[in-house]
Amino acid sequence: MVSSDLPAPAGIETRDDSDFMRLALELGDRARGRTGDNPHVGSVVVVDGRVLGYGWTGEPGQNHAEVSAISSAERRGHSVAGATLYATVEPCCFVGRTPACSATIIAKGIRRVVFAVRDPHPRVNGCGAAQLRAASIEVVEGVCVNEVELALGHWLRSHRERAPETHLVREGQ
Ligand SMILES: [Zn+2]
Repeated sequence: MVSSDLPAPAGIETRDDSDFMRLALELGDRARGRTGDNPHVGSVVVVDGRVLGYGWTGEPGQNHAEVSAISSAERRGHSVAGATLYATVEPCCFVGRTPACSATIIAKGIRRVVFAVRDPHPRVNGCGAAQLRAASIEVVEGVCVNEVELALGHWLRSHRERAPETHLVREGQ
């Protein structure tokens, strides 16, 4: 680093996205082995560099990590409007056993979403990110991708192998 480099700005973005993503990764690890066929995702909700809520994937049929993190902030009296949400995997975008996380994130007024890897599920795979962007939410992909690939490798591989046609289509786009 040279002496003319500007110092880190005070306030909002003093901590790196990767710091919060690593926290989400640690939280997700708490759910390892207890999420059925869902990935053990972790999530944190951050405002002005402060973690207001956090969560991880529940058992099948229970809240996904993103909704758990939003709920945990709200339970403690925080509004998540304008917040940044970190999740290790792209938020889902279809109603399955639980409502779509993308719809909840949009409804709650989250301003920015950061995730590591796309959900390879054929009904998500970029659709969650696209829905968020269509709602004018800033979306950042690929933060700590190597660490998350390592943690969720088995689940990611099993879904990617099941849906090769989706990848072929995407590569041609
Ligand atoms: Zn979800």
